[in-house]
Amino acid sequence: MTIDLRSDTVTKPSKAMLEAMMQAKVGDDVFREDETVNQLETRIASMFGKPSALFFPSGTMANQTALKLHTSPGDQIICDKYAHIYNYESGGASFNSGVSCKLIDGHRGMFTAEQVVESINPDAYYYSPTRLVEIENTANRGGGSCWDFAEILKIKKICDEKYLGFHLDGARIWNALVVKNETPKQYGEVFDTISVCLSKGLGCPVGSVLVGDEAIMKNAIRIRKVFGGNMRQAGYLAAAGLYALDNNRDRLKEDHKKAKQIGEQLSKLSIIKTVEAIETNIVIFELDKDVNEKAFIQKLKDKNIHIIGMGTNKLRIVTHLDYTDAMHEKFIKILQMLQF
Ligand SMILES: *Cc1c(COP(=O)(O)O)cnc(C)c1O
Repeated sequence: MTIDLRSDTVTKPSKAMLEAMMQAKVGDDVFREDETVNQLETRIASMFGKPSALFFPSGTMANQTALKLHTSPGDQIICDKYAHIYNYESGGASFNSGVSCKLIDGHRGMFTAEQVVESINPDAYYYSPTRLVEIENTANRGGGSCWDFAEILKIKKICDEKYLGFHLDGARIWNALVVKNETPKQYGEVFDTISVCLSKGLGCPVGSVLVGDEAIMKNAIRIRKVFGGNMRQAGYLAAAGLYALDNNRDRLKEDHKKAKQIGEQLSKLSIIKTVEAIETNIVIFELDKDVNEKAFIQKLKDKNIHIIGMGTNKLRIVTHLDYTDAMHEKFIKILQMLQF
């Protein structure tokens, strides 16, 4: 039994999801004639209470399109130093939009409204104009941490006062909604644009959706085309998304419970310095200085358990739809008996 805990993107579509995909009614989406894509877009737009949504082949493209929609070359955006858009999108912010990032030294990928205020450039010709605030919920490198909605509202107020756009990278918003008992509409009311991922916790093979207000989304389809992201009979993929929205959201609780239990076991190991607080499906922990990261990963690999390193002796475990109860039982036992 191989246990893959490197990411929640390693899931494969279930039989039932594949069945839903096979049944999809499709058409050429470049002519906007794929009814399943249209259905998915309408559904997610209305979930978030936004007038407009667009299906994308990746979360990266959805985020990059949002950055492009909010900015002009030479502008600056504000985000956390851990932000996916800054760290893991291949420098796309500068490549695609010609913008720079003002990085906030936040806590677990999250920051305060005060820090936003301090990061806005003064209105002088030798500064880059600040245009956009971007946050991530849950914060991936923050260890699946969830924002306090009250802080989001404070940041929104500043965005309004300073005429800044507000974008949410909601790749794992589904996890946050379940944990915090929040609604998509709450988020739709606050953000100008939101990207959500279907291929993380929800278990789809492909797909992200960008939602937003009419005026800003008007140009999204053109930007997607410029980025090469237009698709044809994409309804087969959108059908997986519709299936996942119906069936795979509530069960995220299971992933969160398993992640907590893994964290409890890890914190009993003498070779582990700290286990970061676990809020959702991501576990980040740090090994003692004298324990080699690669050796630890290899030791688990020898037992057919796959996890990844994040540098500086930190490791990451992510639970997901395909991490079964049987796998969980086995992994916990292995952790209990781990010798170092
Ligand atoms: C996965 C992820 C994305 C999108 O990444 P893709 O690999 O392009 O799907 C965006 N933001 C966050 C926080 C993510 O974890």
